[in-house]
Amino acid sequence: MIELPADFIERMKSECADFDGFLKSYERPAARAIRVNTLKISVEDFKKLSPFSLQPVAWEKSGFYVEQEGLGKTVFHAAGLYYVQEPSAMSVVPELELSAGERVLDMCAAPGGKSTQIAQYLCGDGILFSNEIDYPRSKILSGNVERLGVKNAVVTCGKPEEIAQNFSEYFDNVLVDAPCSGEGMFKKEKNAVPEWSAENVKMCAERQNRILDCAAKTLAVGGRLVYSTCTFSREEDERQIENFLKTHKEFTLVKQDKLLPHIVRGEGHYFAVLQKNDGGRGEKPLLTPCVKDKKQLAAYSQWAEENLKTPFENVHSVGQTLYSLPDGMPRTTLQIMRCGVRLGEFTSNRFEPSHSLAMCLNNTQACCIEVDEATAVQYLKGLTFGCAENEKGWRLVTHNGFALGWCKAVGGVAKNHLPKGLRI
Ligand code: SAM
Repeated sequence: MIELPADFIERMKSECADFDGFLKSYERPAARAIRVNTLKISVEDFKKLSPFSLQPVAWEKSGFYVEQEGLGKTVFHAAGLYYVQEPSAMSVVPELELSAGERVLDMCAAPGGKSTQIAQYLCGDGILFSNEIDYPRSKILSGNVERLGVKNAVVTCGKPEEIAQNFSEYFDNVLVDAPCSGEGMFKKEKNAVPEWSAENVKMCAERQNRILDCAAKTLAVGGRLVYSTCTFSREEDERQIENFLKTHKEFTLVKQDKLLPHIVRGEGHYFAVLQKNDGGRGEKPLLTPCVKDKKQLAAYSQWAEENLKTPFENVHSVGQTLYSLPDGMPRTTLQIMRCGVRLGEFTSNRFEPSHSLAMCLNNTQACCIEVDEATAVQYLKGLTFGCAENEKGWRLVTHNGFALGWCKAVGGVAKNHLPKGLRI
């Protein structure tokens, strides 16, 4: 059993009604779970394919407990059919009560568990801003958004203050999954225990307060702000929200809940749902002025006609890169890591498709070469493989119909175009 910080134990003794039960929960291994990516496959179809036995997570219809290890190393994971996520963390996004077509901000989004869950609820309609302050972490976030084939996300790397400056009362829903003292991560993260201290709890609470202030500014009147942490300290949870409500009279508390590890099957989470009832009318950001380079668009259109069943719309170029932008993409001064679907590059007067595009497609949408599991693993390792002599040009490599990436077929050989950084 892990050795918990003495001050933490003392505090939980006075705060937790069933302290013995709470302490005992640390004897059990951390619960493992996945969320089926319904942007690519229905839960019913995934159940038919699943190599794991699945037990439902009560609060998320696409969430399942699994016992197996190595969940991040399967072909289905590489194809973006699921996301490995701590089960109690799945409880937060349903509280946003999202509808397709909404504008949603995820202020602290890396590595992307909740952002990709939000994307599932939006069903490709509307726009999702996934922001992460830390540059290396924003790249991981961007990779996960790509793997799961999210088409309507804008991944940014900015400070909460910059987001607030760019987007005044713009979003219908805002999530603040705040950086916290991580008391619910003691089993999962080996640094969580040594990094915990009462001073750190205080520092986290002050930082959360500043992030919440910024988030409040970005929310439109009538919208929902959901605040969450994976910690149990009241300073970062209930008291944080009490203080927020004292200084933000335009908000009311709809509900709050704390999932504790001895009561639910999960490591623990807190969330509060707030509603914005009042406020000034913010200026809506203007649409981004987009570049349309005729030569580049023509090259893409020709390629799309030959290779895609339905071409992507709202195509714009930035330098030599072509994107399909989400509808209503606003202007922003933020550092953009990813925006809509990166379709590909215009190089040597030709269009070359990107991996992001592959991850948004399946075998009904492009010309493909279906491979068995052994060949799929070979492909994920970056190797070439044999294919029919009559295959020629860009082909989507699929396993069970789900895309793994591109290859280029010529003379009975499929040349591997999986980006080097994604090879296993
Ligand atoms: N929502 C993510 C998910 O579901 O995968 C987890 C987010 S994690 C709990 C909190 C994130 O906040 C971290 O990625 C961290 O880098 C970021 N963060 C740290 N300091 C921050 C700050 N001052 N403002 C905004 N975000 C910050």
